[in-house]
Amino acid sequence: MRDADFFRRWMAAAAASVEREADRLTELDSPIGDADHGSNLLRGFVAVRAALSAEAAESPGAVLQLAGRTLISTVGGASGPLYGTLLRRTGKELGEAAQVSDEALREALHTGVGAVARLGGAAPGDKTMLDALVPGVAALSTSYRAGAEAAEQGARATVPLLARKGRASYLGERSIGHQDPGATSSALLLAALAETAEAPQSPAPVSPASPSKHPEDADNAENAEDAENAEDAGNTQHPEDTGQGLVGIVLVSHSAPVAEAVAALARGLAAGGPMAAVAAAGGTAEGGLGTSAERILAAAREVDRGAGVALLADLGSSVLTVKTLLAEGELPPGSRLLDAPFLEGAVAAVVTASAGATLPMVESSANEAYSYRKT
Ligand code: ADP
Ligand code: MG
Repeated sequence: MRDADFFRRWMAAAAASVEREADRLTELDSPIGDADHGSNLLRGFVAVRAALSAEAAESPGAVLQLAGRTLISTVGGASGPLYGTLLRRTGKELGEAAQVSDEALREALHTGVGAVARLGGAAPGDKTMLDALVPGVAALSTSYRAGAEAAEQGARATVPLLARKGRASYLGERSIGHQDPGATSSALLLAALAETAEAPQSPAPVSPASPSKHPEDADNAENAEDAENAEDAGNTQHPEDTGQGLVGIVLVSHSAPVAEAVAALARGLAAGGPMAAVAAAGGTAEGGLGTSAERILAAAREVDRGAGVALLADLGSSVLTVKTLLAEGELPPGSRLLDAPFLEGAVAAVVTASAGATLPMVESSANEAYSYRKT
């Protein structure tokens, strides 16, 4: 049976491995991506390590859910919501049991991998992380080492494949001949699991803090609560009182300037009369290109006037992060991702929402932007 400490050791081993291999992962992401996979995962797993030492997660399921949540909010690339979904879904399957069997873990991982496939719409052979995860998790029925080896083989077997999902798919034939970075990091994750299972039991490298024992920590917890309350109050006041009773719009782009400029264009074209609240959620928290779950959540809370929130996203991680937040129920009730072209859909959504349309009406007018041909 495996307890929470085993899962903490697994996450610590994964973090150490990502640290060692970050440069290689980023190099693999150069010819067929945007050269950030290593730095994305490094940021994510450093945050996972910090979260696991700061927060008490006392069951295997809780450890994986905390790790997954942390990856979703810190990674910034497509791999964030994908790995975040893998760990959260696996953690949810494990439930609250204090100890889980190897078989239960295998089954939970199988379900977690299924959730990744659904979220990203990919299947084995598409040159993604699934090419390592699917054979890797299947081979866990033999042993943890067999799982790690099958994942490694799966990663190497992505070299001759043509990418059909993710950023690499934009390259078409030119994606052939390169190993997929996400499949490579998935092999590292399963290698870290094998290493943890094979290691002689030793004290967990990452142990939970026990907040109640330290008066300063208790203070911090209180402050955090205060901050949360303050935020809630701020959300309901809406000092400028715009968009009262109207559907709110959130624009999620990889780029902060793009999100803001599209918001400005949509507001400009809808000008005159009442205006729906529009918020831009672009780029990462560090100001780079990518997606920030925190920015999306803050923007959705900012524009929520109780009539629903329509989200438009540009590409890859923007779409995957919004879908993940919706699946986790973290966005305000009545939030919806619109299937629409980003700029034209944003204009249609802001114009109709400002005219007092309901969320389904805003959605269908943004959808229709796809049928507007330009030649
Ligand atoms: P980004 O592509 O946003 O820069 P990363 O570089 O961190 O994100 O991650 C890229 C990896 O994510 C790819 O190598 C691939 O394995 C995986 N990936 C991307 N899109 C998908 C998808 N739709 N389904 C499964 N895996 C995907
Ligand atoms: Mg990348």
